[in-house]
Amino acid sequence: MKPDNLFSCRACSAQLLKKLRESKIFGHLSSERFAITDSDYGVTGSIYKCLQCGLLQCPETEEVLGFYKTLQDDDYEASRAERYIQAVALVKVAMHSINIIEDQEIKLLDVGAGSGILVEAATHAGLTAVGIEPSTWLVEVGKLHNLNILEGVLPNSSVGINYDIVTVVDVIEHVVDPYELLVAVRTVLRPGGICLIVTPDVGSLAAKILGFKWWHFRVAHISYFNRRNLTLLAKRAGLKPCSFTRPSWYFSYKYLRERICCYLPSWMFPPPIGPLRKLIIPLNLGDSILMVCERKE
Ligand SMILES: [Zn+2]
Repeated sequence: MKPDNLFSCRACSAQLLKKLRESKIFGHLSSERFAITDSDYGVTGSIYKCLQCGLLQCPETEEVLGFYKTLQDDDYEASRAERYIQAVALVKVAMHSINIIEDQEIKLLDVGAGSGILVEAATHAGLTAVGIEPSTWLVEVGKLHNLNILEGVLPNSSVGINYDIVTVVDVIEHVVDPYELLVAVRTVLRPGGICLIVTPDVGSLAAKILGFKWWHFRVAHISYFNRRNLTLLAKRAGLKPCSFTRPSWYFSYKYLRERICCYLPSWMFPPPIGPLRKLIIPLNLGDSILMVCERKE
């Protein structure tokens, strides 16, 4: 099989990309299509597969940062309570993964912080937490919650260095240059510090069963990692993968019902009224990777 072009793979840098699927995007893109809560499943840019490491990627979708700067997502903020439960769980994983000297200040940076939900969970756990986020609107919402969120993306000299923990949760699949991002993460970590990377797993059973109908195939996702090429990318960036788990997510019944009804008829599920209105459901479909990496020196 011959490569189609001279795009470089975002994970391994090989110029061995073969087109797998034509773009399903019709008309002009807008920032609404990049909303965290977008449910237009199966709609992506042209997908290419790296013949060397297997990474699926959309190299023709390049100018995405502008969409994130102007992004507003009220549905995301409306789901703050359930996302907070998930953030608490991720902070716990981070705390279990790091060597801590008692009474030592622990510095955490959350990359792609949104409105600061993980920053809030880390602050409540006693950490000194800061976030960085490209969306002006989400940064403003974070400030309304009295959280320390900088506007921008990594690399960024304003965030400082010597972090004990850097979290990159559902971010790496959105960026044009994940290698540059992880090199920047390594740079801001102290030696011995850790980073938590969470991303959908295109090698998971759910992804294999659903094919391009898998809920993570969407406009905003421009790289689709599996454990192997995520490991390879981290190592190239100077990070040492230490552990892999499958993170759980938490959804309101209303949110989950809307998503499930993209696949199944809505009459099968009662409307979100009465006690169902406040119901939060933990879910682990085994289709995300949580990788903990260490900066060795
Ligand atoms: Zn590759």
